[in-house]
Amino acid sequence: MNLIVNRTAVFFGLMFLIGSMAGCYKPVANTSAEERDQPEAAITETRAESDSEMGNTSENVNKTETLSMDAPAPSAGGFRGNVEANLKRFGLDLTSVADESNPVQSRILREYGAVLLTTAAPPSKIMFTSESQVEAFQAKAEIGSGTLGGVTIELQREALSALQNAAEQAKAAGFTITPRDGQEAARRSYAKTLDLWNSRFLKACDHWTGKGRLSKAEADRLKSLPIGQQVEEVLEIEKKGIYFNTFFNNSILSSVAAPGTSQHISMLAFDASEYGNPAVRKILAENGWFRTVQNDEPHFTYLGRKESDLGPLGLKKVAKGSGEYWVPDL
Ligand SMILES: [Zn+2]
Repeated sequence: MNLIVNRTAVFFGLMFLIGSMAGCYKPVANTSAEERDQPEAAITETRAESDSEMGNTSENVNKTETLSMDAPAPSAGGFRGNVEANLKRFGLDLTSVADESNPVQSRILREYGAVLLTTAAPPSKIMFTSESQVEAFQAKAEIGSGTLGGVTIELQREALSALQNAAEQAKAAGFTITPRDGQEAARRSYAKTLDLWNSRFLKACDHWTGKGRLSKAEADRLKSLPIGQQVEEVLEIEKKGIYFNTFFNNSILSSVAAPGTSQHISMLAFDASEYGNPAVRKILAENGWFRTVQNDEPHFTYLGRKESDLGPLGLKKVAKGSGEYWVPDL
């Protein structure tokens, strides 16, 4: 009798264990509206597709297993060495994530690349060039949704949970942490980053055509280019003093991220209304949230790291204006 009971207990114990292991990898409760609306089969399909998008081969270990691995501690090799070690968890390497022979991607890596050291899922491309690439990445990441300052935001689950901890700590200290500009303070789609880019780019085309500095034919040619090339050529034209930012007096990149490059796409960025408060920044830093994009004052990036590890990971601290930024030491 005892033997039977024990066998039964072992059987149910095993079933429970298998059940809970499977549960680890399922997009549950907090998944995005899009994911919730999809039947289970569609999610599996999207994930399989995104594996190939991420440059994975069939030899690579199961993606869900690698996702659960902890980020490696700082090691020698500076920024590049540490990024390579971090990307390896996802079957990625730096050359597949950033094409450094491309001047735009090389610049983006230097300016936004700190995010590649995150303990969550780093972007599979430093510059996504289509909605389908972004969707594939976002479908694979574990997305959490939560309310902060009355606004529902979406981030990678690990990043959201760290942000919620920070918000609680801030509350206990008499402060708040709230999203700036509503929902867009967190997750963004590729289309949103393209809209933002076009809001500057198209306006500047009209402005400079009106001034006679850009011919109509040249403006039309620029508009028809594939996005990566369009960004490259805009930055080239800016060298002649024909600027594409809001006030036509500085690089377009000073006022908007190139399409597909925003850390908000990776769901690892949050724009905080309270960015000017050093006490709030300290609480965010204690929870793994740091400013990593110079001059973008309200913008925080989830690195999930201790501040004391940032230097050894290959980031350097740049003091600017009212605060500091951690940027790739390249
Ligand atoms: Zn931002």
